[in-house]
Amino acid sequence: MEDYRNKYPGLSSPPEMGRAMLPPDTYTGKTVLITGGGTGLGKAMATEFARLGANIVIASRSAAHHATGLAAVEAAGGKAIAVGMDVRDPDQVARTFDEAERAFGVVDVLVNNAAGNFPIPAVDLSPNGWRAVTGIVLDGAFFCSCEFARRCVAAGKPGAILNILVAYTTGAAPGHAHSAAAKAGVLSLTNTLAVEWAPDGIRVNALSPGIFPHENHGPDMLKQRPDGYEAEWRNVPALRTGRTHELGWAATYLCSPYAAYVTGMDFTIDGAERHRRALRQGAAVPIREQLPPRQEDA
Ligand code: NAP
Repeated sequence: MEDYRNKYPGLSSPPEMGRAMLPPDTYTGKTVLITGGGTGLGKAMATEFARLGANIVIASRSAAHHATGLAAVEAAGGKAIAVGMDVRDPDQVARTFDEAERAFGVVDVLVNNAAGNFPIPAVDLSPNGWRAVTGIVLDGAFFCSCEFARRCVAAGKPGAILNILVAYTTGAAPGHAHSAAAKAGVLSLTNTLAVEWAPDGIRVNALSPGIFPHENHGPDMLKQRPDGYEAEWRNVPALRTGRTHELGWAATYLCSPYAAYVTGMDFTIDGAERHRRALRQGAAVPIREQLPPRQEDA
């Protein structure tokens, strides 16, 4: 396959990681709770919020992920705690907000980033697999958002919620029926809660990433990409994949006072991948041909 980067520049690279696009005190004294903030994109966002002065609360299940998230925040000069929490359990969610308040006071920004996903044809997806992904993505975002909003209202404080979606949220995602349905549900929540909670001073936005390689991609996702995630640049009109810190910059803007009139929005950052169309489409390959059979069928 031709390497078009030899012929076309593609979209330029962003400034290097370590720079910030907002004033360095934008989040001083503010607390940002990020579900799944210890890995991948959650960790990248935690880093950029910390760089701008925020206290960070990393909320997820794995102690190993807590450790990597805390180290990243510290390296950016920030303060963080990590709390063990499964987003599917509303009691654990409430306890996490209690711990955050004990450490830093009422949470100012909630990032619903936690997710589960694995590619599989819809007909092969078990009820458990469906419930696991929709439970983490949709139920988790709803439980965390309501807990956050109740506390903001009780404290008489404004707040901002950022829901991390995916560039396929509004289109088809063969092999990802569970994730796509759940993310579409969270997009709906973004719109509805933005309207319900604007009078209370709470903004609700979404950020939809395209392809952002990072070191924490699990084996299920990598199995489909034998050349690695970086090789995915071939599928992006920008001729490159996203850099995790540029996603972090978008997150810090959307939750900041500089976006005070922005709510109910879905901001996509994907190098035009979502809109990609060819003059002549490639052959339609059935999803069961694209994905290897499940282990038990092999
Ligand atoms: P990742 O590294 O696998 O992150 C998922 C995070 O969710 C992990 O830190 C995990 O932490 C947490 N999590 C999973 N189940 C949980 C549960 N039940 N309760 C609490 N936390 C849970 O994946 P990622 O690529 O960074 O994805 C982050 C977000 O970006 C997701 O919403 C994903 O859909 C979206 N996204 C990513 C890309 C990409 O290219 N990377 C593209 C589009 C959208 P624990 O294991 O510690 O619980």
